[in-house]
Amino acid sequence: MAGLVRSPPAAPRRKQRLLRANTGPTTPRAAACTLPMAALKTSGLTVGRMDYSETSQIVAFLSRDHGKVRAIAKGAKRKRSPFEGALDLLVLNEIVFLDRADGGLSILTACTMRDGFPELRRDLDRLHQGLWIAEVLSELTVEASPTPALFDLAVECLTALARGSWQRLSLSRFDVLALRHLGFQPRFVGCGVCHRPLDGEEWVPFSCRLGAGLCRTCRAGQDGIFPVAPGTLSLADGLASGRLRNLDCVRVEDAALADLRRLLTRYIGSLAGREPRMARYVS
Ligand SMILES: [Zn+2]
Repeated sequence: MAGLVRSPPAAPRRKQRLLRANTGPTTPRAAACTLPMAALKTSGLTVGRMDYSETSQIVAFLSRDHGKVRAIAKGAKRKRSPFEGALDLLVLNEIVFLDRADGGLSILTACTMRDGFPELRRDLDRLHQGLWIAEVLSELTVEASPTPALFDLAVECLTALARGSWQRLSLSRFDVLALRHLGFQPRFVGCGVCHRPLDGEEWVPFSCRLGAGLCRTCRAGQDGIFPVAPGTLSLADGLASGRLRNLDCVRVEDAALADLRRLLTRYIGSLAGREPRMARYVS
């Protein structure tokens, strides 16, 4: 199972919410903290967790209203935990947390399961794809930077994955749309430097640094490039642009699907700074 993964630097905190929602500390640990803490409620998808102490865990949620939330769940490992089941990966919850004004870890005070997507846990292939989604969300999102469209996309995709309306290209569609929502969308059409068309090439060198393919002229001297079939870039562009919307009707060769997975895995890995743990299970 994917654990809590590297977090990008915390963004500036939400001071304006502190002014209207400050409820003060309510736990022994919080009582020791002299900073104001705001109680915030939102929908949160569990995307990572790790042990913090013998009884507590740190949990990462992708929330709809506050971006990624990293919170201590006190007592999460006790037998009669108030969070029982709700902190498993890939669970959609309503969460309440105390938000630290200094950007430190939040404190989870309530977590109510809305949908545990139990179907994902009965099928290894579906579970692997769900865990890939969780890892991408955990790796590429930041705290205090809400992206409701990304949260809605994740819930839509996990629902489809769990309930059966999921095609071979659906995971790649999630990836390209998630990259778009996060502002990391690669350029799938034309050269990333001179913008000329890449027609007539058997293979196109793709640069993760530039997030684009390169023409014969511009590829000279570029490092960190790898070959991608032009058809793979067209396929990715079709998914990103919405041109390929009804995936039931899209026929794709195994080789093209594998090439697309390779492209997205390497690009997402370059953004995350390491190869995604779940890459080998969804290639
Ligand atoms: Zn060029």
